[in-house]
Amino acid sequence: MTKDYYDVLGVSRDATSEQIKKAYRRLAMKYHPDVADTPDAAEKFKEIGEAYEVLHDANKRAMYDRGVDPMAPGGGFGGAQGFGFPGGAAGFDFTNLVDAMFGQAGSRGPRSRVRRGQDALVRLSLTLAEAAFGITKPVRVETAVICGTCNGSGARDGAEPVTCSTCHGQGDITQIQRSFLGDIRTTQPCPLCRGYGTTIPNPCGECSGEGRVRSQRTINVKIPAGVDAGNRIHLEHQGEVGPGGGPAGDLYVELSVEPHETFTRNGDDLEMVIKLPMTAAALGTEVTLPTLEAERDDLDPELGAVRLTVPSGTQSGTRIPIAGRGVPRLRGAGRGDLGVTLLVQTPSRLDEHQRSLLRQLADARGEGGAEIAVERQHKGVFGWLKDAFTQ
Ligand code: ZN
Repeated sequence: MTKDYYDVLGVSRDATSEQIKKAYRRLAMKYHPDVADTPDAAEKFKEIGEAYEVLHDANKRAMYDRGVDPMAPGGGFGGAQGFGFPGGAAGFDFTNLVDAMFGQAGSRGPRSRVRRGQDALVRLSLTLAEAAFGITKPVRVETAVICGTCNGSGARDGAEPVTCSTCHGQGDITQIQRSFLGDIRTTQPCPLCRGYGTTIPNPCGECSGEGRVRSQRTINVKIPAGVDAGNRIHLEHQGEVGPGGGPAGDLYVELSVEPHETFTRNGDDLEMVIKLPMTAAALGTEVTLPTLEAERDDLDPELGAVRLTVPSGTQSGTRIPIAGRGVPRLRGAGRGDLGVTLLVQTPSRLDEHQRSLLRQLADARGEGGAEIAVERQHKGVFGWLKDAFTQ
């Protein structure tokens, strides 16, 4: 219920029609704009008139007592309590029912020209190194911005909007249709002012009265270290400026990450695969590997390479993690691992000398025969194959 009409007239809820009439006369004389000089007298006078119109009419008063405000155009539908059909259908206000069906319940009246703008979304592609170590990148954004010619008012030369001649500032138009169930009242936004209650007779030539124009700009977006594809950077008030120059929505920068030719990412870990000669795998070795940091000249050059110790007897498919050389954690401290998977290369082109050496080795190890140990299937063997070849 928008207003308590009993309260406005200062009478109790069981007041007789005589008491209501008396109260109205007394207040109407007090607040009549011709005699009262308080600034809110006119508004008060209108309120008293509305309260009297409802309470002196038995039908309207009964409707009001059930929770339906007969004076509210589309308003006053205070939940299910308004859903009582009156005994006499005449005068029943269907607006509430229609509004409830079409989801337009709520207070009406002119809507503001100035509204908050929408959020905007732009996409930004990063290299793996940019995502891992963070960067500040320029991003091209196209959004609505405040019209610089009218400063958002939408009117030419600083003119003010004027009251709409069609709806007289109400913002909407109410039509009443007679039907066998009573009056059906429909309320629609005023077609002339589109519900604003005011019109701009002389709109700004730059923005056609919208108060905003589309514009491109470049902003520098700070990408924190450790972001991943699908993450969004949230920038407040960098989105679309609203109608009438209203406050801007937010801007979201959605990130994607380009594939890298050496490294793949798995959570906070980086993964790489290296090929290792059979002899090195058998004898053990030390290798120097490039890291993702090598692509960044703003980072310590010492971080651009890492030493890996391959123990003797390393099997193909072995993954050796190097702690702390993966991706920095976006939330929390530290970094993931750099996982190095080793693919042992069996020599394929042997000259006579090499062939003879390998034969000697085979004889020495008693591997000259044809005894083959059949490995039972287990995840270890096929697991690494899968890992190695999907890299
Ligand atoms: Zn303008």
